[in-house]
Order: sequence, then structure tokens, then C-alpha cells
Amino acid sequence: TPISRIRNFSIVAHIDHGKSTLADRLIQLTGTVAERDMKEQLLDAMDIERERGITIKANTVRIEYPAKDGQTYILNLIDTPGHVDFAYEVSRSMRAVEGSLLVVDATQGVEAQTLANVYTAIDADHEIVPVLNKIDLPASEPERVREQIEDVIGIEAHDAIEISAKTGLGIPDVLEAIVTRLPPPHGGDADAPLKAMLVDSKYDPYLGVVVIVRVVDGVLKKGQRIKMMKTGGTYDIDRIGVYRPAMQDVAELGPGEIGYITAQIKQVRDTRVGDTITTEKKGCETPLPGFKPSIPVVFCGLFPVDANDFEDMRDAIEKLALNDASFTFEVETSAALGFGFRCGFLGLLHLEVIRDRLEREYDIDLITTAPSVIYHVFTKDGERHDLHNPADMPDPSKIDRIEEPRIKATILVPDDYLGDVLKLCQDRRGLQLDLTYAGARAMVVYDLPLNEVVFDFYDRLKSVTKGYASFDYQMIGYREDNLVKMQILVNDEPVDALAMLVHRDRAEMRGRAMCEKLKELIPRHMFKIPIQAAIGGKVIARETLAALRKDVTAKCYGGDATRKKKLLEKQKAGKKKMRQFGKVEIPQEAFISALKMD
Ligand code: GDP
Ligand code: MG
Repeated sequence: TPISRIRNFSIVAHIDHGKSTLADRLIQLTGTVAERDMKEQLLDAMDIERERGITIKANTVRIEYPAKDGQTYILNLIDTPGHVDFAYEVSRSMRAVEGSLLVVDATQGVEAQTLANVYTAIDADHEIVPVLNKIDLPASEPERVREQIEDVIGIEAHDAIEISAKTGLGIPDVLEAIVTRLPPPHGGDADAPLKAMLVDSKYDPYLGVVVIVRVVDGVLKKGQRIKMMKTGGTYDIDRIGVYRPAMQDVAELGPGEIGYITAQIKQVRDTRVGDTITTEKKGCETPLPGFKPSIPVVFCGLFPVDANDFEDMRDAIEKLALNDASFTFEVETSAALGFGFRCGFLGLLHLEVIRDRLEREYDIDLITTAPSVIYHVFTKDGERHDLHNPADMPDPSKIDRIEEPRIKATILVPDDYLGDVLKLCQDRRGLQLDLTYAGARAMVVYDLPLNEVVFDFYDRLKSVTKGYASFDYQMIGYREDNLVKMQILVNDEPVDALAMLVHRDRAEMRGRAMCEKLKELIPRHMFKIPIQAAIGGKVIARETLAALRKDVTAKCYGGDATRKKKLLEKQKAGKKKMRQFGKVEIPQEAFISALKMD
């Protein structure tokens, strides 16, 4: 196929605006998949991804489309992760295509991720075709949303295509627009040395690592010996093909084409998103610009509830890491929690996905310690220590200053809830950068400390706005603040897993809240248990959990035997999820719940 008959594109949208449904319709209408094999959301593979409506790995599908001009075009859709945690992967995979369909739900309008994603597409120099989805719904307001796209995003929207991805209305217009309004791949010289972008990779138990590539110059062929320019690895290509969306082998991939290769690559870690692939001999001289590896920004400890699960957990973590180069781990030992792992993630969602998979797919009960960001601790000798774990904090007398990561958060919210959102951001030590209006919605931009956001900011935002706010953020750098390490002592024993860095001015409030929460969460024992928050040796908050007087089952008024049995069973099940700290048993959920701020 000549390059003039190739179109490479992605779909950008806020979550739930219909990206996956539209992709399904495009695949279906072009007969790429036989009708009987059609199931919903073809491109979202993993269960967790499906449930949460997010894509973590980039997927691609090749569609053949006979256009109105009588020519058949090859359309390559790259479905990129739709979440801020994977921002770097998104921005890279966007560079593998030349255009984007901007899908906006015509009943909702522009949301925070609409903005974040479309700006990424604009940064990648994409041609953008706006698409208004869900016009089958009576509540849709295509005219209003058209205006909003022009006002808020600043792109032309009078020729936005009105569709219903659900009923199929307007889908032929979308296909035609991809051909007529998006450009063919830029440049591309088949005779030049091979230059291809590594778009993403995934681990397949049968095939090993499968790499998605976009060829820029030259030709990828079976048997070629290739080299990854950043990691330096060399491999022989053994399979080459395209997704339709099932794998289909082809002889070669030329300039502008997107497909996959396999090459006996053992782990995803050896394949860095954004790397340049060339031939080992007579390769290209300069790699594609702008490569940077994605680095974890949020850390937490994961410990098995049952110490006997440690080896199983190690196997499971190693398996997950095979498919995820941005997830890091090392063995951690804690006096209270025993053996576990200190893990690094790209963000909170990434953390949740990994934790869920360990629990669900590998059936391991976990204790998750407080998520922490990386603090820069400068000691008086001028050294910088990157602190991933509050437990490793240097002696306070040696510390000169502590810097913490800050983010720029963009929140879109209906007017009615603006006050609550401003209060929430203010409470989390935010500095307002901007406040503008777009119709009945306000757009607020805040500079916030990442550590105030990693825990439950998003949950709180959803709850104070009844789900109407949308949120997105980007890292902006490090800044000094008055931060101290707060310890929690249960029965006079410090519990490392609950230690955290907090702002000095907020320490009392946080300490009090944690002690109160823990008092509710820790079951009563046969003795009195003091629960304290302390900075250095100084106690700043304290609660006392009274001793248990009688057997709990005594509460069951004697008679009801089944009820008594149920209660005992419940207690037994609860026991499994408890850990012993000195003489005190602390339930697993306490480690997360205690950190939530109301
Ligand atoms: P994504 O998160 O952007 O991938 O959104 P999905 O494609 O998963 O769609 C989110 C929800 O909206 C699903 O329940 C879809 O069935 C529904 N949906 C998508 N497109 C339409 C449409 O055109 N009309 C209606 N009524 N519902 C739609
Ligand atoms: Mg989706």
C-alpha cells in the first residue's frame, strides 16, 4: 500500500464518553471482525481494565476501508491509555500517529481528561476531527458542546461529526473523515536505514514479549537482526504482523505502517516505550527525539497478611513486572510487618491496578502501607537523599531542608459545587493558579503538593461534587516546605507502616484524626491500648482504646445460636486479615482507612 493510502490515528476522550464503543463500531462496520466474533470493547483486554474502563497498554488495530473515492485505505487505530498515570506512554504513542478523533459526549461536554488528552494530541502535531457522541440521547446538546469545544479547547468545531456510537448513526461519516481530513504519514523513505518507534510492548505467555512498532523509515522484515537504540539490546525478528484485531502475520512492514514483532525478547523491561528500533548493521544514525523512561512517583509497601505467602507473592510480583516496566519493587523488611516489598508506581491508579491483580489473580491477601511520594531530603553536609519510605528518614538533627513534589491540577466542575472544590484544594495546601468559566462550568487550576493528592483526593473530590467534577494533573517540580515525620505508636510501639511525612502546621490535625480512626478500627483487647501520634519524641495526639470486659458473644442475648455462630465465624474471618503488633492485633483495613481524611 502506498503511504498516501495509509491513515494512522488515535481516539481521545474523557472516560465514558464512548471511545471504546466507537472503536468497536469502526471495526464492525469495516468487517474487520466477523459478526459472530464481535464482542463489546474489543480493544480493552484485561478484566480490571474493562471494569474501570481504562486501557493500560496501547492496543492497535488495522482496518481496511474502501473509501468513496474508490480506493481502499489502511487505517491504523492506536488505542492509548486514557489515564494521567500513564501520561508519558500516552504522549509517546500519540507520536506514532498523525491524527486524532476527539470524542466528546454531547450530553456532558468537555471534561478535564478531554482537555488533557486533546492537548497531548495537539502537542504531537495531530490533525483533530471533533466527534460529538451519544446524540441518540434526548439530553444531548450538540450545539452547546460544539461552542464549548471552540471556547474551551480553542479548535474549530463547526464541522464536528454528530454520531451515536451505540446505534451506529454517523459512523460512515467518521470513516470518510479519517480519510479526507487526516493526513497520510509524514515523510517515510523505504530505502533509508530502518527507523521504527517502539510504541508499547506486552508479555504473552506463548510468544514472549510482543512489541508494537510504527515504522518511520526503512522496512521491517522477518529474520532481520534489530537493535534497540537506548537499551542496546539486539534480537532476531521471528514474527511480524498486524492486529485485525487478532494477530495476522505479514511479510514486512514499510514506512507509515503499524504492527507487531516478536523477537525472543524475555521481558518487557528490555523494551522501553519510545525507544528507536533499527538494524544492528547499517542502522540509522540518530534515534527519534525526546525519549525518556517513565519513572515511578508513588511508593508503598505491600506485605502478605500471611507471612507464609511471601514466596508466592514474590513469584506473582515478578510475573506482573514482566509485563510492566514502570512498576518497580524491592524486598522490604519491617519490624511489624515482616517480609514484603517496597513498590514504585506511576500513580495511584497504577498502584490500585497492581494491588488488585495480586489479590484477585494470585489470591494473596495484602497489607498496603501509606502511599508516599519521593521527598528530596537535603542533609547539612549538602547531600540529597531521595526518600521513598518515611521509615528511612535521616536523623532530624542532620536535616537541612525537605522538598516535596508539586502538581498542577486542573478541575472542571459545575458552578454549584465550586465552593466545595475550592475548600478541598485549600485544605490540601493548594495554591490557586487560575479560575475561569466555560458555560455553567468552572475550570480551576491549582498548584498542590502531590502527597496531599495521592491518597484520597480523587475520592473526596468525587464525593463533594457528587461525581460531577473531572480532574487531571501533571507534575511541575519540587519545592521546599516545613515537613516533619509523624510516627504512630500503638500500645507504645511505633508502627512503621503508619509513619508519614506531614506539613508541620497540619500535623496535630492529621495525628488526631489518625488516632481517632485507629481507635475505631482496632478491636478491643483484654487490656487498655494507648494510641498516639508523635513527632520526634513529642506526643501530639492521643486516644485510649478501653479494655474488653466480656466475651463479645455475650452481646447476643444467649438464645440465638446461629447468630452466635455467625459472629464467631465473622471474627475468625476477620482474624485472617489481622497482623500482630507487639501484643496488639491490627486489622488490615486499618492501614488504609486510618489515612483517609474526612
Ligand atoms: P470509554 O470510557 O470512552 O471507552 O467509553 P465506552 O465506550 O466504554 O462507553 C461508556 C458508556 O457509554 C457505555 O455504557 C456505552 O454503552 C455508552 N455509550 C457509548 N456510546 C454511546 C452512544 O452513542 N449512545 C448511548 N446512549 N450510549 C453510549
Ligand atoms: Mg474504554
